[in-house]
Amino acid sequence: MRFPLALTAKIARHIIKHKLARTPKFALVLQLEPLHTCNLTCTGCGRIREYSTSLKDMMELEHCLAAANECDAPMVSICGGEPLIYPKIEELVEGLLDQGRIVYVCTNGMFMRKKMKDYLAGIYSPAIEPTLAKLLDAKLISDKDAEFIRKGKKDGRPTIRPTKWMYWNVHIDGLEYTHDLIVEREGVFKECVEAVRMAKILGYQVATNTTVYKETQVQEIEEMFKYFSWLGVDGHTISPGYDYDAAKRDMVKRLGRDPKDFFLTREMTRQKFKDIQKWGENFTIFGTTVYQEFLAGKRELTCTAWAIPTRNIRGWKAPCYLMTDGHYAGYREMLEKVDWNKYGVVDGVARDPRCENCMVHCGYDPSGALGTNFQRGDNWKNFKYNFWPKPARYARGHEVNAFNGVSIGRGHLAPVAAALKTAGLTREGANTDFYLNQAHASKTSSEFADAQFGPDSVGPSQREESLAKFRDAKKIELKTE
Ligand code: SF4
Ligand code: SF4
Repeated sequence: MRFPLALTAKIARHIIKHKLARTPKFALVLQLEPLHTCNLTCTGCGRIREYSTSLKDMMELEHCLAAANECDAPMVSICGGEPLIYPKIEELVEGLLDQGRIVYVCTNGMFMRKKMKDYLAGIYSPAIEPTLAKLLDAKLISDKDAEFIRKGKKDGRPTIRPTKWMYWNVHIDGLEYTHDLIVEREGVFKECVEAVRMAKILGYQVATNTTVYKETQVQEIEEMFKYFSWLGVDGHTISPGYDYDAAKRDMVKRLGRDPKDFFLTREMTRQKFKDIQKWGENFTIFGTTVYQEFLAGKRELTCTAWAIPTRNIRGWKAPCYLMTDGHYAGYREMLEKVDWNKYGVVDGVARDPRCENCMVHCGYDPSGALGTNFQRGDNWKNFKYNFWPKPARYARGHEVNAFNGVSIGRGHLAPVAAALKTAGLTREGANTDFYLNQAHASKTSSEFADAQFGPDSVGPSQREESLAKFRDAKKIELKTE
């Protein structure tokens, strides 16, 4: 099975219960954002920009748990920001598991190993020494980490433990070069790989979560699936990038780029995803076949954004994860007050121009599961896709050229670092204004980049992004409870 039986049964029971009760709208997955703080500044992420004035704010733990109870979605995806920065993330995961929910922790992977070391410290006894030896041998923990683990954990707080009800959902947008470029920091891909390897040794369930942009090469996505399948991940979610307002504004303002150069139109999405069903045969892609057919351009679906509601520090965000027309105090209130007929694309016509190019999973994947645009045979297709044996682990992942960036000296920030060195500055100590003024003095930022980094050092879009990194070099000060 692609998705474990107990979890599938839980979701199926939830849908059947509401169908029998003729509930017109109900939640399948809650996107819970306890905070918007993040340690990264990924290109294309509207979250940390849309909520830039409230980055230090966090939801109370009780409010997070109450939100899950209120909408009663069987699955909760804890996202953000970076949820592992949330000071009570362990209590939140444990609380949601106690409520009987399936929990996805959507993370950029940078703090996963720390949380898993805490887990090991929490369960430490000499019986786990062979596991520690294995982790040491694989260089996934250091001798110092092993000592920390052996001391045990005495603060009485829970840890994030492996269970079939919980997935680490790791953000991976490509192989090393591409991923580090998109997350705007070198070394992130490598850390994600190490976190995934450690998680699999410890028995966690792991999924990868990928957004496809205009610049994403389809071949690279397939290579990425091969590599992570070989590492033993349990499944992949994949969705097209979309030019929603906040991300679009960020593109223009911060990177000086036309969103059309970066995000996908519907037609482009269909091109990129034309082989998704083949990917689904070879790799464990999560989601329904109906949604895959939609992405491949074989059918239309109606948006059901209400089935994947977003709750954050400002309330229930409407109409969807991507667009914000308002925040509501309660899920029911949002369902009642929002005119859902204003959104989505019906028969190829956008009811709201902002929805025109959207085919994202948070709007359309539930439509496949809920039978919104039911066609004969859909239930059988969805059933078969999930219940048939899952694709075998890819055997030749070691042949994938996964470390094609900074690990082989091809880091996209390397020219920037070199330029700083020439100027006698460290990257951390660099005065952003100095570079911006230099850029301003040049006729174009590309010209400035050529002068600083050499004409052939990086491609035009990479030069723009290197410059953008200087513009966005602000540090976030965390407010903890
Ligand atoms: S990891 Fe990247 S995509 Fe995720 S919240 Fe942080 S900046 Fe946004
Ligand atoms: S189509 Fe649905 S999910 Fe997409 S932007 Fe519009 S309301 Fe949001």
